[in-house]
This record gives sequence, structure tokens and C-alpha cells, in this order.
Amino acid sequence: MTMESLKLEQMRSWILTTAGAIEKNATQLSDLDAAIGDGDHGANMTRGFSAVAKKLDGVPSADIGALFKTVGMTLLSSVGGAAGPLYGGFFLELGKQSAGKQELDAAALVSILEAGLADVKKRGKAELGDKTMVDSMAPALQTMKAAGNDISVITHASAVTAREAAEKTIPLQARKGRASYLGERSIGHQDPGATSTALLFECLATVSAGS
Ligand code: ADP
Ligand code: MG
Repeated sequence: MTMESLKLEQMRSWILTTAGAIEKNATQLSDLDAAIGDGDHGANMTRGFSAVAKKLDGVPSADIGALFKTVGMTLLSSVGGAAGPLYGGFFLELGKQSAGKQELDAAALVSILEAGLADVKKRGKAELGDKTMVDSMAPALQTMKAAGNDISVITHASAVTAREAAEKTIPLQARKGRASYLGERSIGHQDPGATSTALLFECLATVSAGS
């Protein structure tokens, strides 16, 4: 059966599922960051997403826009470093684009995520190939956009691409963020931010499949 839309409750599950996945993979994320950065990506993301989960545990969000706004604000206020503010801005943008909405169809989902990606690129000044979260997010969205209108199909396809794309950052040389200080020595390691982005897309697929 075609899945036409994602509702507020499923978006909430996406965020909570992501919080769990981040916590479960925190060591891996920090180990990746230890190789080419300062080793705190897992801890940063866990701190941010556990603050988000706590926040969402209280008052229910009025709509999808309000939900994402809460996520963005909480990430901005609880995570330092490079990735925290970038993910914070990403979710704030998602919130702006989905203000007042109770559900999103495939086109709307792609559209808000693309706006989020544009915000990340603008804030971080990173382009494709710079070995950042953009290298997972941009290909994942390209796949999602081309995969049709069935939400469970398009989110699954994008999750597969996001994971493969994160792995494809291994041979890249970092041109943005802390890892860029290593120059050529950043080659041969998977980017931690691209890896946490893969988790985000995988959790969206999980939530979309389970309903
Ligand atoms: P920090 O580098 O400040 O310790 P984190 O370790 O939490 O922050 O996050 C590192 C990740 O942030 C990188 O793996 C990369 O994916 C992402 N990142 C860093 N700088 C940028 C940037 N300018 N644009 C996009 N993503 C970036
Ligand atoms: Mg770090």
C-alpha cells in the first residue's frame, strides 16, 4: 500500500528514534571523530538529542513546524562544536518550512529537507566533496526526490544512499571543519558528521516503514 504522508506523530517518532540511534552509536561517532577531529561528535550529538527527547516528553507540539522548531532550538542551545549549530539550523529551517502543517506528503517532505540542506550549506559554506555531513545529506535527498511519491519507498531509498554516501567520504580530503586542519591526513577516514546524517535518514526510513 502506498504511504501518502507522514503525520505529526510520526515526525515526533523520527526525532525520538534518532535520539536512541545516536545514543547507541555514540562511541562509533566519537571514534570516527577521534581519527580526524577531537573525538567529541558522539558526545555532542548525544547531549543534544537527549535534551531534545526530554523536551519533547513534556508538552505536545501543536504542529510539525512547532516540533522541528523545538528540536532546532534545543540543539542550538545544548550542543557546541560545528555539527550542533549546523543540525540546529537544519531543524529550525525544517520548522519554518512546515509551519502549521499536521502532515507532509512526499513532495513536501523533499522540499523541507532541501531547505534544511540549503541552510547547512549556507551556514557551513560546505559544498559536495568537502567531506562533511553535506556529502551524505545531498545525495540522500537527490535519491529521495527521484524515488517517487510513496513515503516508505523514498525514505528507504534515501537511507541506503545516505549510508553509502557516508562511506564514500573515506577517500575524500576534508576541506571544512576541524578535519581540514589535517590536510591529506584526513584521507582514509569516514566523516563523523556524514555518519550521523546517515543515522537521521535511516531513522526516518524506520519510522516510515513501521506504519
Ligand atoms: P567539532 O568539529 O566542532 O568538534 P563535531 O565533532 O560535533 O564538531 O562535528 C564534526 C562534524 O561536523 C564533521 O564530521 C562534519 O561532518 C561537520 N562539519 C564540520 N564543519 C562543517 C561545515 N563547515 N559544514 C558542514 N559540516 C561541517
Ligand atoms: Mg568533534
